Amino acid sequence: MVGLVIVSHSQTLAQGVLELAEQMTRGSVVMEAAGGIDDPDNPIGTDPMKVMAAIESVAAQSEDGVLVIMDLGSALMSAETALDFLPDEIKEKVLLCSAPIVEGTMAAAVQASVGASLKEVSNEAGAALGVKIQQLAPITGETFSSTPEAGPATETGGEELSMELLIVNKMGLHARPAANLVSTAGKFKSEVTVRKADKSASAKSINQVALLAVKNGDTITVTVCGTDAEEALEALKALHEDNFGERDEDILVAPQETAAAPTSVVDGVITGAPGSAGYAVGPAYVHQASLPEVKKAQISDTGAETQKLDSAIADALKEIKTLQKETEKTAGKANAAIFEVHGLILGDREMRDRAVAEIEKQKVNAEFAWLEVMNAVADGYRKLDDSYMQARAADVLDCGGRVLRILCGSGDHGIVLDKEAVIVAHDLSPSDVAGLDLKKVLAVITEVGGVTSHAAILSRSMGIPAVIGAGEAAGHIKNGSTIALDGFSGKIWVSPDRAVQKEFAEKRFAWLAEREEAKKKGAAPAKTLEGTEIMVMGNIGVPADAPRVLEYGAEGVGLFRTEFLFQDRDQAPDEEEQYAAYVEAAEAMKGKPVIIRTLDIGGDKQIKYLDMPIEDNPFLGERGVRFCMARPELFRTQIRALLRAAAEQNIWIMFPMISDAQELEEVLQFRDGIRDELAAEGYRTAEKVKTGIMIEVPSAVAVADKLAERCDFFSIGTNDLTQYVMAADRGNASVSKLCDSLNPAVLRMISITCDAAAKAGIEVGMCGELAGNSKALPLLLGLGLDELSMNGPAIPDVKEAIRSVTMEDCLNLAVKAMKAKSGDEVRKLLK
Ligand code: PEP
Ligand code: MG
Repeated sequence: MVGLVIVSHSQTLAQGVLELAEQMTRGSVVMEAAGGIDDPDNPIGTDPMKVMAAIESVAAQSEDGVLVIMDLGSALMSAETALDFLPDEIKEKVLLCSAPIVEGTMAAAVQASVGASLKEVSNEAGAALGVKIQQLAPITGETFSSTPEAGPATETGGEELSMELLIVNKMGLHARPAANLVSTAGKFKSEVTVRKADKSASAKSINQVALLAVKNGDTITVTVCGTDAEEALEALKALHEDNFGERDEDILVAPQETAAAPTSVVDGVITGAPGSAGYAVGPAYVHQASLPEVKKAQISDTGAETQKLDSAIADALKEIKTLQKETEKTAGKANAAIFEVHGLILGDREMRDRAVAEIEKQKVNAEFAWLEVMNAVADGYRKLDDSYMQARAADVLDCGGRVLRILCGSGDHGIVLDKEAVIVAHDLSPSDVAGLDLKKVLAVITEVGGVTSHAAILSRSMGIPAVIGAGEAAGHIKNGSTIALDGFSGKIWVSPDRAVQKEFAEKRFAWLAEREEAKKKGAAPAKTLEGTEIMVMGNIGVPADAPRVLEYGAEGVGLFRTEFLFQDRDQAPDEEEQYAAYVEAAEAMKGKPVIIRTLDIGGDKQIKYLDMPIEDNPFLGERGVRFCMARPELFRTQIRALLRAAAEQNIWIMFPMISDAQELEEVLQFRDGIRDELAAEGYRTAEKVKTGIMIEVPSAVAVADKLAERCDFFSIGTNDLTQYVMAADRGNASVSKLCDSLNPAVLRMISITCDAAAKAGIEVGMCGELAGNSKALPLLLGLGLDELSMNGPAIPDVKEAIRSVTMEDCLNLAVKAMKAKSGDEVRKLLK
């Protein structure tokens, strides 16, 4: 096998490169680092004697020769000098290689590990930079002509076998899995070819494999030809089954039911998660967190413009880092990976240098130069054949747009549509969705998020069809291109032909008509066949939602998420504003009960003007009442507004995230103190305001009997209860299969809660997403729920489902479901 010597001015650098290469080849190649000088005061430099000793040592263990890879300047001279001092029998087995130290060493190590000759290893190292150049070509405009060699000699002829493999590795066949593929293929004499779409590569060349840019969700065809073809195919199959040597955490299998898959575009159809039911067809509006208007201006001080640009890029990089950290915490590493890409795009000086060149050449302002370069780079990506590369256009515009906004001093703006459109966005904040103009929004598509993300919840409550977590959808959809969308199945057709457009227009028409029909069905109360009446209520986010749920037949509001009143503004609403909002919602409900939940922020709900802590685990941190009790002034204002409103309207108060009896006691005391304060000030207060709690933390279930003694009702929040019971983040698509509210573990928690409520004689409802699932309705009644609260459009179906069951059947079903092994088994029972 060929061995390697890594020569650098810095021993740390040489050692780091060596460690990386060893990791890729699992220590199978003999390597030595010959970096720096043995002088503690002046360690940077190269020492020919050190290089010579390293070559001698590696040569003694590597029968096929030694490849020396250097960084720059004197490293080359030291290597040449070392060569002069070596005896001829060693010298003739040594090759100095001009490859860049990091890329070259990685490629050389992988190629050496498969038994390639010294020449082949050197060629592969030399071509390694080409892979990087080609990948960045759309940005840099550079080309690289060298084609990597095909690795060690292979035999052709003999049997030809092939197989298709779906790549589930999160980052696709990136360095490590690619290295494992190459080293496995290299163990066989047969020729091994990997094909992705119309591009093919020798599986024995790390560079060729890297150039295929195989990503998660791609299917590759592996063809093996030669006398040991069968064994080679078996070994490659086993490697694939072993995730190409990566750990399970590095795997992302497209989940089968509700999860957001990475973009899978098959015949122009993109699949995501069915976020909100409904059909739509119309032009796309690709939301790029709105770019500011840029005017061209002639300038004379090009240096000042360059400085302005540099400082905007630096600020944008800081923002991206913060966003990445926050997103990692709230939505998991997979969703945050996009910011890594944005950081790399802006961190690479190529775009910046091109913009500076424009500033100097055209004598124009930094904003204009940057906009021109950004658009050109994005266009370059769009023109590429590879859909993965095309998707990078959206990333360029996203992070480039951030720089532009900083340059122009403008903040993010909401989405303003001038005509009907399907909104396509990387992600939508709750306030983005809440601010949508319902007359113009046909549907929503987001690249990230799961079915219980707030964007999905809001879309459902507003009756907007949505496909959530559609991967890099924005990169595949151009502004204005026609979209047909099925929110029931989570499928999106991009630029469909006329027949499909017509089909979707008809489906939408029928769906809207059915919805109107459903509203009629929703009007009457819902009783089971033997006459048990179940309260069906609506979930709202702002007072304007109240008439919408009422239209669908809501018998009250089971959950008013007050955090929406606090979002998308610069300071918290004061007591009067809150009071007015609560009264407005209750008035719209015409005397029906309105359960108003106190501020539930933290976790994935951030409010920029409040002192939200940076936490390692925000979902396990200061959330809901924990956050509010730690900020008594903020909480006091809300409770005052609530108690005043409750004195006039049928308003009930609900506290989120209660974890134990003592916490509840403290919260109730806080409320009582404020009631006394209001009375002392002469305000009218209600004799008794019904007060309840959300049951969404497992500890609250465990002590539900104790909690029931101190409140008037429970409302089960299955979105959080599920994520906390299953230890599976509700916004992380990679664990969405686990984050399943129908899992028997969650059902048992619901049952314990209902039993405790029944024993204490208090009402128990449910306001998590599960409550609106009409298929699960018999199960929920069997578990003991008295009231269900959901998004408006779900109400009529749930009411119809109630009208078609008997309590006895429901009880039997619940017993079976709790004994099931999995959520899937429960789903089968529900069919
Ligand atoms: C829940 O957790 O189920 C719930 C209704 O609250 P939210 O989705 O607002 O966290
Ligand atoms: Mg919750």
